[in-house]
Parts: sequence; structure tokens; C-alpha cells
Amino acid sequence: MLTLAYYVPFMPAEALRLCRDPRNEGEVRGLAMSFRPGSHALRKVHKPLRFCPACVMRDVRHEGEAHWRRAHQLDHVSACWEHRLRLSEWDQSENTPRLPHELEVTRSSGSIGDDEAWFASVSKQLLDGSHEASSVRKRSNIYRVRATRLGYSESTSGMVSCITNALQERFGSRLLNSVFGGHDVPCVAATVRRVIGTSAAQSAHPAAHLLCIEVLFGDLGIFFSGVFGTKGNQLWKAQREDAKERSSGISSGQTGIHRAIFMQAVKTYGPSAMQRLSVEHPVCHAWILHNDRRWAASLIRAAEQAQWNSLHPAG
Ligand SMILES: [Zn+2]
Repeated sequence: MLTLAYYVPFMPAEALRLCRDPRNEGEVRGLAMSFRPGSHALRKVHKPLRFCPACVMRDVRHEGEAHWRRAHQLDHVSACWEHRLRLSEWDQSENTPRLPHELEVTRSSGSIGDDEAWFASVSKQLLDGSHEASSVRKRSNIYRVRATRLGYSESTSGMVSCITNALQERFGSRLLNSVFGGHDVPCVAATVRRVIGTSAAQSAHPAAHLLCIEVLFGDLGIFFSGVFGTKGNQLWKAQREDAKERSSGISSGQTGIHRAIFMQAVKTYGPSAMQRLSVEHPVCHAWILHNDRRWAASLIRAAEQAQWNSLHPAG
């Protein structure tokens, strides 16, 4: 049940209905029990606990006491997905464990932005797997657009072979065997073809989707972590500039410009330069992959060595 949320987007709607347990709908009450005063479970959580004053009022009205909600404790969640209110925080280190209705705060401490509300509701959906299965066609399109952005061939067979290569580079044969039923090229490629295909009848196992997502989108984690900070704004700016560059045609086929952008990225981000480049300068990233892969790899290796040396000074 814990991993269901990750599988939902790839499951046929029928299978999804069968596997959902109605007892898991809505908020899970079990955690409220483990969060009772004096409980060890509560003391193990060191970050402040968050609660929504409107949820607390409703709980008290209906049940006489309030409980902690899992969806409010998720990383980076700052709003109640249901009431669109900013969550209040309680620092556990100050007092003995308590339930939310025993705390002094009765009003929400401010309004929230649309992005915070969106993030809170998506987090909640991921938590309990309540989002719907996605459309095969839409999914296929997302994979293809991303693969093209990474510089992979736009033809289906070219794309399949690039993704297969990436899977073999990234994952060991044991994992590939268990997910793809074999680790050799024909075996993996046959499943990859189903993953990025549009046929609902020939759907691939959700685990195969997850591995493909990891090789296609794994480096975007850094983007999501920057969405709410100034970093996020810089990313948008960089992407706009990149689009401008593309439309003016400056960057097409010019080794010097791409190498300069790449070297700047290595200077700023070290060994993770390639990942950052794919987010901030996708055109340059694709160009380097196509034309200058070896040169780029040697620079990354040098950056890795430099990082290692600085972390492990001699003696
Ligand atoms: Zn609420």
C-alpha cells in the first residue's frame, strides 16, 4: 500500500479500483494514536509539527479532540490542502507531547499563494494515492518530449535504444532482470518500447515506468527543490534566455558558445554540471550530448577529482 501512490499513474483504471482499500480513504487515523501524549513515536520526530487551525476546530466539533495529519507534515508543505490556510507550527522540544487542540494557536497566521496550495494538494494526493490513472497518450507524449530534450533521437527506435542504453548504464543486471525479465538489449528494449508507446493493451509493468522515469527525469529533482526559492526564479530566467538564444539562432552549431556555457556550469556546479545544464540550458545540454560528449565527460571527471581532493585533504 505504501508504494501505491507511485504506481497509480501507470495502472489501468480497473486495476486501480480493485486495489484501493476503502479503509485508507481520507486521513489515516492510525497516526493520531501513535502521536498521543507520552508516545515515543512523537519524540522521535525532531522537526516542528504542523497543524491547520480550521482542521483543529472541525475535529474538536466532531470528535472532541484534534489529531495530527500526515499530509501537513510532509516536506516543504506549508498549507492545508483542504482549507488553503497557512499551517501553524509547534516546536516539540518546548513541551511534552500534545494534541493540536491543546495548543494555544487558534487562528491561521497568514494567506498562502497558489503555488503553495497546489503543492500541498499534490503532496496529499501522492500520500494516499488518490490521483487518477493518467492517459496513455499524454504519458507517451511527456516521455517523448523529454527524451528529445535530452538529445535522444526523435524516431521511436532511436529513442528506445537511447533509453535502453541509459538504463543499462544506470542500473545493475539484477534489477534489470527483475523488472524487464532480462538485462540484454532486446529484452530491455522491448519493454521500453511499451513504456513510451501509446497502446493501452500493451502496457508495461509500473516498475518499468519508474526506472524509465528515473533515467529521463531523475536529474529534475533539483528543479523541484528550487521551485519555491530564489533558485526557482533563476531557473525560469535561464530558461527564457535559452529560448531567446534558440529563436535568434545564435547557438546552433557553434562549438565555442556551447563549450563556454558548459565550462561555466562546471565551475559553478562541479560534477553535477550536466544535470543542471539539462534544466537551465536544455539546448546546450542536447548539443553537448550529441557532439561533445567525450570532452564534457573529461571535464566532469576532473571536477569529481577536484571535489574528492577538497573533501579528503592529504594527511
Ligand atoms: Zn485544514
